[in-house]
Amino acid sequence: MGFIFTIEEQCQGCYACVRSCPVKAIKVKEGIARVMDELCVACGYCLNICAIGAKQARSDIDVVSQLLGQPSPVIAILSSTLPAAFPGIRPKQIVSALKKLGFNEVMETAFGAELVCCEYGRSLTENREKPVISSACPAMVSFIEKFYPQLIDNLAPIVSPTVAMGRVIKWQYNPEAKVIFIGPCVAKKAESEDEMVKGVIDAVLTFPELSEMLATKGIEPLSEEDEELSGPIPSLGRLWPVPGGLLKITGISADILSTEIVIAEGIDRAISCLREFVEGKTKTKFLDIFFCQGCIAGPAIDNNLSLFERRRLIVDYALEEADKAQTQSDVEKYAGIDLSRKFTDRHTELPIPKEDEISSILGQINKLKIEDQVNCGACGYNSCHELAIAVCRGVAEIQMCWPYLVERLQGTQDEFIRIEKMTSLGQMAASIAHEINNPLAGVLMYTKLLAKKITGDTFRREESLDYLSKMESEVSRCSKIIRNLLDFARQTEPMLRLVDINQVIEQVLAMVGHQAQLQNVEVVKEFSTSLPKVMADFDQLQQVFTNLTLNAIQAMPEGGKLTLRTSVMDSQVTVDVEDTGCGIPKENLNKLGTPFFTTKEKGKGVGLGVAVVYGIVERHKGKVTFQSEVGKGTTFTVYLGAHDDAKG
Ligand code: ADP
Repeated sequence: MGFIFTIEEQCQGCYACVRSCPVKAIKVKEGIARVMDELCVACGYCLNICAIGAKQARSDIDVVSQLLGQPSPVIAILSSTLPAAFPGIRPKQIVSALKKLGFNEVMETAFGAELVCCEYGRSLTENREKPVISSACPAMVSFIEKFYPQLIDNLAPIVSPTVAMGRVIKWQYNPEAKVIFIGPCVAKKAESEDEMVKGVIDAVLTFPELSEMLATKGIEPLSEEDEELSGPIPSLGRLWPVPGGLLKITGISADILSTEIVIAEGIDRAISCLREFVEGKTKTKFLDIFFCQGCIAGPAIDNNLSLFERRRLIVDYALEEADKAQTQSDVEKYAGIDLSRKFTDRHTELPIPKEDEISSILGQINKLKIEDQVNCGACGYNSCHELAIAVCRGVAEIQMCWPYLVERLQGTQDEFIRIEKMTSLGQMAASIAHEINNPLAGVLMYTKLLAKKITGDTFRREESLDYLSKMESEVSRCSKIIRNLLDFARQTEPMLRLVDINQVIEQVLAMVGHQAQLQNVEVVKEFSTSLPKVMADFDQLQQVFTNLTLNAIQAMPEGGKLTLRTSVMDSQVTVDVEDTGCGIPKENLNKLGTPFFTTKEKGKGVGLGVAVVYGIVERHKGKVTFQSEVGKGTTFTVYLGAHDDAKG
């Protein structure tokens, strides 16, 4: 496992880590974003961007706890960013808290920074052939080793303040001691295991890891008394983490040498400076370069303070302590420590895909044409072309392209609708075949019987007439089914004109009123007198209300009340067809409107009435709802949009 890894069950495949990763060291496979150790520089950008915490840095808590339980003395060395990481808590209170955890001594890396700065001072005054790139930021060193190996010779062959401090302790102060660095940087974990500097830092705790250890033991630094730091005394070395800290401590004035000294903090500036170095364009003699905006912006500082505020806290502490210092810095005492180091070429040659492979991927995501390449960045890559290259390399998937995914989903939805339609069509064909086959089989049977009677000697007039009447009834049933089907399937757009709904209902009642009378159904009209007209096909609406009214009357075989109510609300004309009939049982509620669903006895219903109503109202951009209670009655409500200029 590398220094940063993915908790796979938590990864949501949002590609935020791909977007934030400056070196694209994230491989997405089957939607899960994993870290590629060979490319990762442990900058920790992905840790803070992953809102659900699926990206984690390797914790050294267990290693440190184990070391604290052993006889060797354990010394903590604290990053100078401490005042910014724990605002409101005095560094000396942290010393006390650390001692409670079991550390024997607590020192500051600031002294290491002072030693290192002396080396840089010497190096800068030498007349070196090659421009020098500072090598104090472990993420930047790793970045150059992995991505700009041609600049390795430009890296200052000087250890970082942390490693310098480790050497001070291990090589001179107390060779028995175990050294734990505590700071804001994940890349320090990688640095401590780098073959070139290995053996002086035994473990690295980030500030959040320290907080976790303190919380586990119930230690609250805020309630601790002050305890003194130990080890060699630093002075301005505490300014190391603030931008320009190295130059300030070294005592080099950036004003005079400003064209020769460049400070590049943050990966974007850093990359453009490195490119200039590679192209040989630069006039810079010394490039002080950091992956983050200085260590004060390190990924493992767990608060929302601005960088200005963090800078203020660090500078205030450094100046305050420098003022109080009684003795001279111990730099002379440790001047003999070897602070040199070497670097390793860790470049991984990534395969360069052929143009036709890239085009093939672009074609798959419909981004072959330049004008289709929106470069939206949703996939995490800066351009569609970069994504295509990553797909060719097997570290990305075409599903990461958001516009392509949306297009595909749309296609899938259309496919679902098509399948749904085909299924309904199939069901309907089967129902029609069944509905028409039965009467036709009857007709066929009576035809054969009749033929037998006529050709034989058993011909009887009444019996034959009876057969003919049965055939007529079956044929007329077929014809009714076909008529209803045609209504249901009518695809023609309605012939729209301004229609008075009250008038439509009057017309319907004129046709079906006698049936209501026959069945002892009282008809009540509750018509709105200020009903706006609607843009509709008069004949089709007549069909809608005929079907609903007939159903209502048929639901009241013992008589009852049929209320036809019109009203207007929110620019909508509504019509209620309310009966006091048998009601619709629960199990049938969602079958209503399904073609050929009927509960009526053979010959009375074909089960297309409500389906026809739905079809027509839908074509008028209206809506149908119904409410029903068994034994109490049913109300169908039709909503139709009122025409703007149709009032009155
Ligand atoms: P059909 O009238 O030919 O049966 P419909 O599609 O018009 O076909 O109606 C389907 C079924 O819905 C009816 O058979 C009946 O069971 C039920 N239904 C429709 N309207 C009412 C109503 N007002 N009251 C009770 N049941 C109804």
